[in-house]
Amino acid sequence: VSFWKDVPQGPPDPILGISEAFKRDTDPKKVNLGVGAYRDDNSKPWILPSVKKAEDAIYNGKGDHEYLPIEGFDAFNTSAVKLAYADCPAVADKRIAACQSLSGTGALRLGMAFLKRFYPKSNTVLVPNPTWGNHKTIAKDSGLDWKEYTYYNPANYGLNFNGLVGDLEKAPDGSIVLLHACAHNPTGVDLTHAEWDQLYDLFAKKNHVPFFDMAYQGFASGNTDHDAYAPRKFVKGGKSILLCQSFAKNFGLYGERIGCFSIVCDDAAEKDRVMSQVKILARPMYSNPPIYGAKVVSTVLNTPDFNKQWLADVKTMADRIINMRAALVDGLKTCGSTRDWSHITKQIGMFAFTGLKADQCQRLAKEFHIYMTMDGRISLAGLNSKNVNYVAEAIFKVSN
Ligand code: PMP
Repeated sequence: VSFWKDVPQGPPDPILGISEAFKRDTDPKKVNLGVGAYRDDNSKPWILPSVKKAEDAIYNGKGDHEYLPIEGFDAFNTSAVKLAYADCPAVADKRIAACQSLSGTGALRLGMAFLKRFYPKSNTVLVPNPTWGNHKTIAKDSGLDWKEYTYYNPANYGLNFNGLVGDLEKAPDGSIVLLHACAHNPTGVDLTHAEWDQLYDLFAKKNHVPFFDMAYQGFASGNTDHDAYAPRKFVKGGKSILLCQSFAKNFGLYGERIGCFSIVCDDAAEKDRVMSQVKILARPMYSNPPIYGAKVVSTVLNTPDFNKQWLADVKTMADRIINMRAALVDGLKTCGSTRDWSHITKQIGMFAFTGLKADQCQRLAKEFHIYMTMDGRISLAGLNSKNVNYVAEAIFKVSN
């Protein structure tokens, strides 16, 4: 007899539930626009050629399966920091504490645990409305509260910048603010560089703590420097940021769980103290991180030929996504839609916030075998040259 008869049934994950419904559907026309993972034009996962080359080199090299240290693979952490912070003086000053993490989610979890333990000034993380659903649950399970700040403007499917600034002005000085560095999930709506500059001034004035989630560096625009503008701007200005990097999307290494959590400190001595505490947090959670993804990413980033190939690979993915946005809008026009769909091409990254209502999304699933989240978010990765017109026609029919 077990001890668990009072354990209640929990709700299914809203996004993984969609994939299950998609799998059960036997219609050959079915399309999965829920999945947050890149697919090629044949709807297949894509192993990046640069990653393949690194894997061959690793396989043929003399590797072993020993434990990594708590903070992970040194060559990986160094190259992850270089990729994110590039020419920020903090890199040369060696004052960035960096710890390999279990992808972006693990970085967020380490970061929030660190804030909980070492930032007594606030117990609340401010997150954009809307945000990736896991942000709130990670905060909660780390013992922090969360509160939303204005972000999205449903009236024009874009950014409510004045609302955002207003809310962060009103927030108590020294608030913890989670920021999507690029390719905001779920809306695809990003700040312009000029808006980031303005936000930087606000953070400097209010002494807010910038907590960056960068899950899509390079994947958004196709250019890794362009996509890292915001965290670099803050660091160059002198802000101490926390940064969560994921290498799931930009390396196609979803299942390898490879990421990096870093904190910019004032000097090398502070970095050493911070690093010692990050390790103390990581040790009882998972002891030390997995080795394979760290080897792949560092081999790609540290081998000039592979690195060059990788920059091209990232652009291939970003360009396909950007082309699908245009193809979808063209398809809608061809069907005769007179609605303004330009937000789909203005938004960036894996997702578009279509503005479709829940009942329209339900009709798309039921009548057209097209699956997406009920907030109208579609993953552009699920579109390809063969199904984009079918999807456009279906969206036209349910939204007309
Ligand atoms: N942050 C955001 C905004 C995301 O969209 C994702 C992936 N869906 C992540 C973090 C983390 O993903 P992973 O743990 O797979 O790196």
